[in-house]
Amino acid sequence: MKTPLSAASFELCGPQVGSFPRQNTTWKKRSAGAGPRSTRFRMSSPIRLQPSTHRGEDALDQRRNRRGVLTNLTNHLRELLVKETKSLRSQRTWKKGCEPIGSGLGPIVTKKWISSAREQEISELAEHIANEYFPDDAIDPVAILDAKGISHSFGFYGDYFDGMLECESGDFHVYGNLVRLERSDSPRARFTLGHELGHYFIDEHRNALLAGGLRHPSRCNYESRLLIEREADQFASHLLLPESRLLRDGTREPKGLAGIRSIASKNGMSMTATAIRYVRADIFPCTVIKWDTNGFGWKWFSHSVRESGIRKTIENRSKLPPDSATEEAFSEAALPDSGFFSRGSTASTWFPYVARGSERDAIMLEEAIPLGRFGVLTFLYAADF
Ligand SMILES: [Zn+2]
Repeated sequence: MKTPLSAASFELCGPQVGSFPRQNTTWKKRSAGAGPRSTRFRMSSPIRLQPSTHRGEDALDQRRNRRGVLTNLTNHLRELLVKETKSLRSQRTWKKGCEPIGSGLGPIVTKKWISSAREQEISELAEHIANEYFPDDAIDPVAILDAKGISHSFGFYGDYFDGMLECESGDFHVYGNLVRLERSDSPRARFTLGHELGHYFIDEHRNALLAGGLRHPSRCNYESRLLIEREADQFASHLLLPESRLLRDGTREPKGLAGIRSIASKNGMSMTATAIRYVRADIFPCTVIKWDTNGFGWKWFSHSVRESGIRKTIENRSKLPPDSATEEAFSEAALPDSGFFSRGSTASTWFPYVARGSERDAIMLEEAIPLGRFGVLTFLYAADF
């Protein structure tokens, strides 16, 4: 039986364990002056292993492990980068999407998109596993964890991670953080378990953990821009909702957030994860924008919207119409029976490069749903489609 971590023990050991790559955005938030010296997070080393007294490893083993992890990761990600650099160099997204963060690990810790070939590879892997274990029913990630002999537990670990995959002597254990997941069976918890299964099933991720005996704390549900987290999110999304089931239900259900809610509920997925899949499946031309509580988060266009030349949306809350459904969702007003707010709008209101009164300035429907501490989701589509 796994001994549950306490938040206090995580504070003590969190920065000392390795992560691939380092989740430095989390640690940076802790001010240097907060707490006694022994519990402060340190930033001196990109990957630090457990003290030998904790793991029973001597210093030489630790150095070997550390070198092995770095070599595995470097090889995998260098391969990805070399391949993708060639195809991305000519695209404007290159500078934006591939900024290395941190100097020690260089390109390992990258904020970048997954190549479409890699996306497909991961999606096919996830869907194969989903259909093998649950050909007809909704996918239960706990049953897959059990089938693979991966233990799991839930605890309260502050705001440090959604889930964490630990590998110790070849045995895997998943920690779920109820502070961020709320319940062990919430859609966010299911997605997080799917994300950790991604780190287990994707060969490069699992091999890096096996080589190093590390803990990897995760930020899931498309909140992290790190490549390794995007890959695990991609896996989780396709594990919980295989494409064939999405297309089948997406064409049967009502358009917009009503249909997305129904698909999300049927598959135990969050609105956010389902909305992204729905838009990307291009069931009809649509756009989704995620707002964090402090501003713009991200956006996705369906393929047909991108084909029409639209690439940009409002990305500043101050530009939102005060009577928009999105502002109403932020206002904590009582939700209507539909479960979301809805307004008529125009394309030029949301897409800055569409001129007001022009042929492209279509009448739009704006739907918005509050996500509590995670912000608001806005869904846009043409009213006459
Ligand atoms: Zn992760």
